[in-house]
Amino acid sequence: MLESLRRIVQEVNNAPDLEQALTIIVRRVKQAVNADVCSVYLNDFENRRHVLHATEGLRQDAVGRVRLELGRGLIGLVSERAEPINLDNAATHPRYECIIDTGEERYHGFLGAPIIQNRKVLGVLVLRQRRRRHFAEDEVTFVMTLASQLAGAITYARTSGELARLQHDGIPQRFLPGLAASPGIGIGVAVVVYPAADLDAVPDRRSDEAEAETADFRRAVQKVASDLDRFAARTQAHLSAEDMALFDAWRLMLESDTLIDGTLTRIRAGNWAPGALRDTIAEHARVFDNMDDAYLRERASDVRDLGRCILMHLQNQTAAPIQYPPQTILVGEEISAMQIADVPREKLMGMVSTTGSGSSHVGILARGMGVPAAMGVSDLPVGRVEGREMVVDGYRGRVYVSPGPAVRSEYQRLAADDEALSAELQALRHLPAETTDGYLIPLYLNTGLVSETRPLGIEESAGVGLYRTELPFIVRDSFPGEGAQMANYRRVLELFAPRPVTIRTLDIGGDKPLPYFPMHEANPFLGWRGIRITLDHPEIFLTQVRAILRAAIGLDNLQLLLPMVSTVTEVDDAMQLIRRAHDELLEEGYQVRMPPVGVMIEVPAAVYQAEALARRVDFLSVGTNDLTQYLLAVDRNNPHVAKLYNEYHPAVLRALLQILTGARLHGKEVSVCGEMAGDPLATFLLLGMGVHSLSMGAGSLLRVKKVIRSISKARAREVLKVALQCEEPSAVRRLLLDALETVGLGALVRPGR
Ligand code: PEP
Ligand code: MG
Repeated sequence: MLESLRRIVQEVNNAPDLEQALTIIVRRVKQAVNADVCSVYLNDFENRRHVLHATEGLRQDAVGRVRLELGRGLIGLVSERAEPINLDNAATHPRYECIIDTGEERYHGFLGAPIIQNRKVLGVLVLRQRRRRHFAEDEVTFVMTLASQLAGAITYARTSGELARLQHDGIPQRFLPGLAASPGIGIGVAVVVYPAADLDAVPDRRSDEAEAETADFRRAVQKVASDLDRFAARTQAHLSAEDMALFDAWRLMLESDTLIDGTLTRIRAGNWAPGALRDTIAEHARVFDNMDDAYLRERASDVRDLGRCILMHLQNQTAAPIQYPPQTILVGEEISAMQIADVPREKLMGMVSTTGSGSSHVGILARGMGVPAAMGVSDLPVGRVEGREMVVDGYRGRVYVSPGPAVRSEYQRLAADDEALSAELQALRHLPAETTDGYLIPLYLNTGLVSETRPLGIEESAGVGLYRTELPFIVRDSFPGEGAQMANYRRVLELFAPRPVTIRTLDIGGDKPLPYFPMHEANPFLGWRGIRITLDHPEIFLTQVRAILRAAIGLDNLQLLLPMVSTVTEVDDAMQLIRRAHDELLEEGYQVRMPPVGVMIEVPAAVYQAEALARRVDFLSVGTNDLTQYLLAVDRNNPHVAKLYNEYHPAVLRALLQILTGARLHGKEVSVCGEMAGDPLATFLLLGMGVHSLSMGAGSLLRVKKVIRSISKARAREVLKVALQCEEPSAVRRLLLDALETVGLGALVRPGR
């Protein structure tokens, strides 16, 4: 049964449209479980009925004609309960209704399985048997598995209008849901891109000509390096320095020992270059695949991408140039940076991918280039949308395929609004983040996530509020030394001087393991992470602190930040090590200064000890990303519980208040550097609470500044007061949306003015 399941799933996935997918399902399922009838009813919500859409065993002329009122009969019951119903004699069930026109009165055995997508029942898959028959458990699970396979195809058919055509009546246009990866509205024509060369299809082949294979491989790597340079040059005008650094990161990966030496070793062992490359890429990508951190996991696709590019040159292929329409929506399962860079910027209106999320490279690049993007649009059948008109709503992560005139004109209006808003925001670049009643709240940047070589330099920020230092440790094959680290930190400190730069000490471990530092933990988020690792390995901590202190010599704009603190002892121990590094450097003749040191509050234990922590350090910085995950017991990277992850949760708000109270007792400042700081809705709450500064990604800065400059601190306090009476995150969100709409700024978080 498992084998037929696999085969049917494959056939369904390859079906060109819903009609054929349904035909395949009913035919194959009937066969596989030896039933007399297999049918699919789909729910037509607009007309409140179940419609027979496919059958094998009943009269074909019943298809499309048999329509049951929604909720009636056994079909209605399966739909209502959203679970399978298995009866050996359907007619004796109180909800049984005989469906005329199908000849089904002859049947006894009944199995109905709901077809569900996102908690919504879209239809019912039904099996009937002439004799009495109670279907076996494995048959029930088999049917349920196939029903779930149909859900995606049905959703797509609803949105594309195919279902409406099948049902012979007009269904309003629906969207395909995905993740909002880059705000904005894009309207254009879909251009579908595929990976150029298939690494997995490369066979092993023995070669005795290691030298020739080596030369081919090196030549291919060289060609990819020059492709990267060419793309970087072409994209330069449209990206910030930080986003351009992606290209440096790829160069680093391309030229890394892991990739080069790994492949050469395999060539020397007797494999030909493509086979050696395939294994090296697979091994390297696996390291990233196994990381829990969503951002780092995305690096696996970069590694595969690079592998494919090298393979393409090894196979002497050159991709035929694509003719991009003037308004291109780039679509793919995965989209690579090079595929993006291939589209002239003025033609690129939007991007859509079926995989990935906002933290993937496409998301980062899209935001950097200001191109609307939706990612993780898993129901989009990539193979069937080439050349079709598409609308991308990057605010809500929605995609419309072949939109009707009403949808199109509505989105054309929204796109025009959006352009006007961007222009308006640009005017704020050099204005202070000051409330209407004269309260200043400095806005800092979060940086370091992308590359250590060329950190961003955005003039309008007050400095860097969070410089994440993990990346240089991850992209290398071993710990970077003091000198290499110092050069990185110096660059960012110099770029922002005299404005402060807050450098966070290493936050690896658990969810962000290093390839060269083995860690195997059952519960990585509750494990060896951040300061816990660096205190256990003072040599790593001391090297980093020395590099950071040396980097700041003569600039004096450095602040240090300690991640994942859960006890005061950790702070005491870390302070001791920082002082030691400082004293040693002085002894060595370096003119270092002791910088202000802060603690990240991102673990519930630290919230309750905010006062004791504030007594020990110079400032507190709240990491709302981790704090929310730990307070709510919701993995921040797990899509299954994404709905529960909410920074407006009353528990998060109360935690923030408690942190501020603790800090206030010692006159210490509190900053927020988690994603909440960049959310224009949350600005009301954080301002109202009296948070001293906010630190966020470059893309959020002007939006948050706009809110701050449009409201008074007194108003923020009023909103906060009401928010604190709410018992549910959704009520807080509604309140904040309302407050934002009242000052005419709803367009900052949704399309339209
Ligand atoms: C946080 O947890 O909110 C934070 C800023 O740190 P990171 O996202 O790097 O864990
Ligand atoms: Mg954190």
